[in-house]
Amino acid sequence: MELKTAMKCSSCNDNMLSEDNFTKFKCPSCLKADVVRCSRCRLKSIVYICPECGFKGP
Ligand SMILES: [Zn+2]
Ligand SMILES: [Zn+2]
Repeated sequence: MELKTAMKCSSCNDNMLSEDNFTKFKCPSCLKADVVRCSRCRLKSIVYICPECGFKGP
């Protein structure tokens, strides 16, 4: 069963809701995976980990 792109925050692993104020960008290291961060993690500057290459960034 495939759900409609259930996105998760790369930092806290919370499910993202479309109305959440999240940011999404390509991993600057491998440029393959999308890194998603919720507004909470962005405000707290919690590091994200790329699901593809394991790159950690602020
Ligand atoms: Zn988060
Ligand atoms: Zn990466």
